[in-house]
Amino acid sequence: MMEQARQYLKKYFGYDQFRSGQDAIIEQVLNGRNTAGVMPTGGGKSICYQIPALMLPGVTLVISPLISLMKDQVDTLLQNGIEATLLNSSISASEADQRLRDIKEGVYKLVYVAPERLENPYFMRELQELNISLVAIDEAHCISQWGHDFRPSYLRINPLIEQIPSRPVVLALTATATPIVQKDICRSLGIDEDDAISTGFARKNLIFSTLKDENRDQYLSRYLTENKEESGIIYAATRKEVDRLYTRLIKSGVNAGRYHAGMSEHERSEQQELFLQDNISVMVATSAFGMGIDKSNVRFVIHYQIPKNMESYYQEAGRAGRDGLDSECVLLYSPQDIRVQRFLLDQSNPSEDRLNQELTKLNLMKDYCFTEGCLQAFILRYFGEENPDDCGRCENCRDSRSSVDVTTEAQMVLSCIIRMGERFGKTLVAQVLSGSKNKKIEEFGFKTLSTYGIMGKKSAKDITDFIDFLTARQFIALSGGQFPILKLTNEGKQVLLGKQQVLRKEIVKVAALSVDDELF
Ligand code: ADP
Repeated sequence: MMEQARQYLKKYFGYDQFRSGQDAIIEQVLNGRNTAGVMPTGGGKSICYQIPALMLPGVTLVISPLISLMKDQVDTLLQNGIEATLLNSSISASEADQRLRDIKEGVYKLVYVAPERLENPYFMRELQELNISLVAIDEAHCISQWGHDFRPSYLRINPLIEQIPSRPVVLALTATATPIVQKDICRSLGIDEDDAISTGFARKNLIFSTLKDENRDQYLSRYLTENKEESGIIYAATRKEVDRLYTRLIKSGVNAGRYHAGMSEHERSEQQELFLQDNISVMVATSAFGMGIDKSNVRFVIHYQIPKNMESYYQEAGRAGRDGLDSECVLLYSPQDIRVQRFLLDQSNPSEDRLNQELTKLNLMKDYCFTEGCLQAFILRYFGEENPDDCGRCENCRDSRSSVDVTTEAQMVLSCIIRMGERFGKTLVAQVLSGSKNKKIEEFGFKTLSTYGIMGKKSAKDITDFIDFLTARQFIALSGGQFPILKLTNEGKQVLLGKQQVLRKEIVKVAALSVDDELF
């Protein structure tokens, strides 16, 4: 059976070998087991259902959330000599009827459908008459409310599958699933948790870095000058920021395009096409851009602003280097961007629970910017990998600065948090440590604390950065989403008791950059 799968891999796709995880997933599906496949972006998920589709009788239904993605996939399959079609809102009702008739006739091996179509009772009735062997669900994390991209229509998938008389095999695929989301996917789709196959999330060709305290426009101008010939994506959090950056880049002669939801569909697909064809080298975009885009030579992804959570970050950054060549993923951090994300979150009118959950995720994103450990390992831990190896490539792994002992300063902060009753947030703790004359501090009687003004020689920013560092190192935990309160973790208590040392990379103050600002 697997021999035939390998022959099909060569015959239809031109590849000699399966990539890690592909063969295990295909074998399990061919054995009739419902399966969840977790593979990094660019790992080759599509082949995991396309080859079984060719080998199984009847038709494979592929549920996929994006119309543009479906069209690309169908076009590629047709080019490879595989009969495939799609059903979504881009085609007329009469055309959809015709396609359904052809599907019944057995013309197609694969049919891509948008999840919204599952809400159409007529379509559901028609499906009953098809010989469906496999239902593949792309971007399966959309089924989970814990995921970052929950789509209610995904909840219709399981009832649909249960109604199909041929009892098809289910294959759920995703690149971003924390353990809780993986569990949710399995539970919602009737997959045995033991039948989840994960190849791990590590992307060996991605070089991660974060930049704080830099003039971001200067950084960009320098980066784009040094990487003139390369293709890359710059993500910003808002349409306004995308427009601003785009205008500046164009003015400075960068061959840039832009993409956000405020543009017409025509403009967006035009820009996307130009980027895919290498007629535009740098795409400035909001998170609306990129899902399902298979552009192999993206050499860098720069986040001009912090994204809302690690799922989004890894998915967006992961668009770099799909061809396996070394590529850079840079995150530019600025404290005010946390407020931008906060604003965007409030705009979406979340429930209290949801708000707290999202704020916790945002805080973790910030921890990523402040960690001094391996950045790839930080990401992998987030997605549930235990004890991941350091990548040896990221900015932190390559950081040769020596570490200094900051245990005493850490004890000052931790002790101050305890003395304030573990009831306050970062700003007030920092104010007490700096000896601020704020009225609130007087009212609470914090002036009498022994830690009041104990870090008076440091700037307010240095103190809050240091608290962020201690949080990223997990000596401090944030509790409560909206106005997080600082509390000590067990490790933090060990530091306070003098049982654990705290080391921090020496802060080297970079002299003002003498970059030619004219470019921007
Ligand atoms: P994703 O996991 O992000 O959905 P795709 O299925 O789009 O990834 O595959 C990413 C790229 O890898 C595609 O260009 C695909 O043709 C290629 N690919 C998939 N499987 C193999 C393989 N076994 N050998 C070489 N290239 C492969």
